[in-house]
Amino acid sequence: MIDSHCHFDFPPFADNSDYYLDLARQAGVSHIVIPSVGERNWQQVRNLCHTGGPTAPALSYALGMHPFFAEEHGPQTLARLEQALEQARNDPCCVAVGECGLDFAIPDADRRQQTDWLSAQLSLSNQFNLPVILHCRKAFPELLKCLKSCPPVRGGVYHAFSGSLQQATQLLDLGIKIGVGGTITYRRANKTRTTIAQLPLDALLLETDAPDMPPAGFQGEPNRPDRVVQVLNALTELRSESVAQLTQATNKNAEVLFALPSQI
Ligand SMILES: [Zn+2]
Repeated sequence: MIDSHCHFDFPPFADNSDYYLDLARQAGVSHIVIPSVGERNWQQVRNLCHTGGPTAPALSYALGMHPFFAEEHGPQTLARLEQALEQARNDPCCVAVGECGLDFAIPDADRRQQTDWLSAQLSLSNQFNLPVILHCRKAFPELLKCLKSCPPVRGGVYHAFSGSLQQATQLLDLGIKIGVGGTITYRRANKTRTTIAQLPLDALLLETDAPDMPPAGFQGEPNRPDRVVQVLNALTELRSESVAQLTQATNKNAEVLFALPSQI
């Protein structure tokens, strides 16, 4: 399995990464994609991916400015993001721009600034020929508008998708895959579960969003990359394909999107 979205530089992983990588390996996680949130952790995610050993899981990273951490981004941050992406141009571990997006659920969100940053990062993704990792809360129409005015040529993933079939279809039409996370492990998440059950197999990526979004049964604990198993199990319950088919398809989708080395 590939965990396509895990903040592996955050606590509790930061000080105990070998332990959590071991758990992930034992659970069958072959690859983890680590998005960054802003300038403060670009170096950290890069270092993490470069100090990994020869054994699975392999680690890749993305560079971006997360809208939730808006107050950390300064007027120069975009220019420095461009520099960081330039430096990472020949780094096979750097696989995407992100995480970026719109978060209008934040009280007093500066919507215009978030929109400008997202548009700029969509342009950067095209400039550096990378896919995007998207975060979106309470801003779906605005996100679509940004994507339509600057379509990411290499596509992307809308992480932690929860929503309707119509929304998912609109994303797929723009080349954006659907990140399937812990939400579907909750039986009450009917709308999202029904949507995910109906999507084409080549639309789906698995993710944990660890240490956030613990799956059902693990509420109150930090989430972990090995718990991508719970997401896969819930997905198997919802769909007609077998575990093996779903594992193979979601692996392939992540490998193609992020140009990861194939496991097969
Ligand atoms: Zn995230």
